[in-house]
Amino acid sequence: MDSSLNAARRAADLRRVAEETVDVLVVGLGATGAGAALDAASRGLTVAAIDAHDLAFGTSRWSSKMIHGGLRYLAKGQLDVAHESAVERGILLTRTAPHLVKASPYLLPLTPDVPASQAALVMTGYRLGDALRAAARTPRRALPGPARLRAGRALELAPVLRREGLRGGLLSWDGRLVDDARLVVALARTAAWCGARILTRCRALRLSYGRAEVRDELTGSTLTVRARAIVNATGVWAGGLAPSVRLRPSRGTHLVLRPGSLPGLRGGLHVPLPGSSNRFALVLPQADGRVYVGLTDEPVDGPIPDVPEAPESDITALLEVLNSVLEAPLTRDDVAGAFAGLRPLLEAEGRTADLSRRHAVLDEDGVVTVVGGKLTTYRRMAEDAVDRAVALRSLNAGPSVTASLPLVGARGPMARDGSVPARLVARYGAEAADVWRLAGRHPEHDGLLAELMWAVRHEGALDEDDLLDRRTRIGLVPEDRAAALPLARAALHAG
Ligand SMILES: Cc1cc2nc3c(=O)[nH]c(=O)nc-3n(C[C@H](O)[C@H](O)[C@H](O)COP(=O)(O)OP(=O)(O)OC[C@H]3O[C@@H](n4cnc5c(N)ncnc54)[C@H](O)[C@@H]3O)c2cc1C
Repeated sequence: MDSSLNAARRAADLRRVAEETVDVLVVGLGATGAGAALDAASRGLTVAAIDAHDLAFGTSRWSSKMIHGGLRYLAKGQLDVAHESAVERGILLTRTAPHLVKASPYLLPLTPDVPASQAALVMTGYRLGDALRAAARTPRRALPGPARLRAGRALELAPVLRREGLRGGLLSWDGRLVDDARLVVALARTAAWCGARILTRCRALRLSYGRAEVRDELTGSTLTVRARAIVNATGVWAGGLAPSVRLRPSRGTHLVLRPGSLPGLRGGLHVPLPGSSNRFALVLPQADGRVYVGLTDEPVDGPIPDVPEAPESDITALLEVLNSVLEAPLTRDDVAGAFAGLRPLLEAEGRTADLSRRHAVLDEDGVVTVVGGKLTTYRRMAEDAVDRAVALRSLNAGPSVTASLPLVGARGPMARDGSVPARLVARYGAEAADVWRLAGRHPEHDGLLAELMWAVRHEGALDEDDLLDRRTRIGLVPEDRAAALPLARAALHAG
């Protein structure tokens, strides 16, 4: 099968979906839904997967892009969740998406605000995290161990740190996605390669036993999709289709700093939050030079917006924490953009920050809902949901094979000989050479037009928003978005 998604394939697949009965309909194409579509299709089941908007329209594009080793669950005594995270991290790093997930260093600066007792506790945690890595059989060469650094070495990694009173730093490593939305695109395309019909701009209006009422958001027409099993993977919106599912969303905000705002930074930072011994703000340098700073955790009530807003109060709070460790404080003018996402946490007692990141698979009226969890464990969530669907409807399928199925872009040689820009290799893996070949005819704008054309032809981008906000992340900075808009229009026109 072909892994390319585009407007022509969407139209053809939509016609077929209206006529056939599929084994599994997946609703929602975030990491969980795209993962479920891949899991089911790679077991040989017939699959349709729909999203009301676009691939990675929801929470999956607003994450910190960390592929966690599970340390923080260990700290809460949730050994099973921690082990599961570490195993899934190892699978992504070494087998299924090594082009998108990389080991990334983080420095915790030992400032006067971090007492020696706290530093010792954190270092013990890092060592336990390294033991989790070993237990998950992730080789040390894929993920180096922790280390305590002297002040001079810490300043080499992060020259922006305030020098006065700096005792050194604690260095740790974890997995990081180059771009969370790209993981979702890779999952959806790999599912398409296995035969799944991937349909964006298709909203599920109602789910019931064996059928879904669906609206094509491009035309407004409705159709009934017949499916032996239905998986509801709509994240924070899951309760709208499965009323018994109770979620307690929590908002997480990140700042986007312009390239060069924190000069010389060679890794991420863990900045201790005032008044907490084990919670940290994250400073996350990106491949494009921007730096994200996160992350808040605020319970949210009321209707769930399509795109959550980052309130000014979150921005101020994050800047304040960041400035607590900087030699030269940043101001609001250094913040080029901000984004917020809603964590789909299952309702439980207590503050949302303390809620479990466990996932749950529930079924009601023949609809399997998979919710909670996190990006890191999307594969396991998908496997559990499809297992339940298979059991519920006695579908003819073997066990999941996704732990050893490389995603599109992870198969074949990577052009690391300098013939293709490293930026493209990091985002497209083995497909980077094909994207760059397109740029041969359109070398202007450092190949960006070629990237956008690639997205239209092969990655299912249907409009400017898909191109600027999800296939690339240019849209995170409003002025960059405005500047790139003509190029996005040209790519759509070139088709
Ligand atoms: C700020 C923040 C930071 C995070 N950082 C990390 C991190 O660093 N590492 C990590 O592992 N996890 C992280 N997480 C958690 C992780 O991002 C989420 O758990 C995960 O992305 C949820 O994915 P999902 O596919 O379940 O939901 P979503 O990505 O929200 O996907 C749901 C999809 O369903 C679609 N949909 C909704 N209603 C309908 C309908 N009626 N019909 C059709 N489609 C519909 C939506 O358009 C959407 O695309 C973070 C979360 C937040 C909020």
